[in-house]
Amino acid sequence: MAKDPYDAIVVGARCAGSPTAMLLARAGYKVLLVDRATFPSDTVSTHLLHPPGVATLARWGLLERLVATACPPIDTYRFDFGPFTLSGSPGTEDTPVAYGPRRTVLDKLLLDAAAEAGAAVREGFTVTEVVVDGGRVTGVRGHSRHGRPVTEAARVVVGADGRHSLVARAVQPEQYREKPPLLAAYYSYWSGLPMDGRFEDYVRPDRGFAAGPPTTT
Ligand SMILES: Cc1cc2nc3c(=O)[nH]c(=O)nc-3n(C[C@H](O)[C@H](O)[C@H](O)COP(=O)(O)OP(=O)(O)OC[C@H]3O[C@@H](n4cnc5c(N)ncnc54)[C@H](O)[C@@H]3O)c2cc1C
Repeated sequence: MAKDPYDAIVVGARCAGSPTAMLLARAGYKVLLVDRATFPSDTVSTHLLHPPGVATLARWGLLERLVATACPPIDTYRFDFGPFTLSGSPGTEDTPVAYGPRRTVLDKLLLDAAAEAGAAVREGFTVTEVVVDGGRVTGVRGHSRHGRPVTEAARVVVGADGRHSLVARAVQPEQYREKPPLLAAYYSYWSGLPMDGRFEDYVRPDRGFAAGPPTTT
């Protein structure tokens, strides 16, 4: 194992990990980005990308790629609370609309941007252990789908590995603003709903429903 071959290893390559790796690589750092998933692939999430997220994609030079996927813009949010409804444009003059891309589309786009920026990308690579030496994280151990265990070293390891994060379990960070689960969410895909650029939310006692326009598949 070479000593410190990477400046940073990012574990998890979806909407948190890939932009982190991309920005570090654009800044000139040597980055390894790994995920046990391969891309494009789905994950548990609905798809609302609010205007600040859209503005962030524009700042990174990636918005045109999303628009080119024919992902429909959302120009109106409508919150129906029963006795009254709030409705209006979600964005600002600069970023007026939201989008609803499938994660199959968004995460792949972000992963490709990280690779283009120079990050080494390893899909289908499962991290099984965070390597700690003298009280300091020095790398990760893991394996590709059918490969033997390998150890990769870095000055910094970033945990972008989502819920039940292995990295968080290993380093036990301070936890704050914790909340117990407050609701159960279900979502599905329907064709033919007349959403026409609207995201609609219906809030009722102890329950709520929302719908957005079709996303690319
Ligand atoms: C039902 C639901 C609806 C949601 N709707 C929205 C919405 O409309 N808009 C919105 O902005 N947010 C929404 N969210 C929140 C959003 O999904 C999350 O904030 C987002 O997915 C977090 O992204 P992430 O990159 O941090 O983690 P994730 O998307 O969870 O990605 C983590 C990645 O880490 C990889 N990984 C994990 N462990 C390892 C390991 N040991 N080795 C290698 N790789 C590993 C996984 O394979 C995965 O690809 C929703 C969430 C849920 C549950």
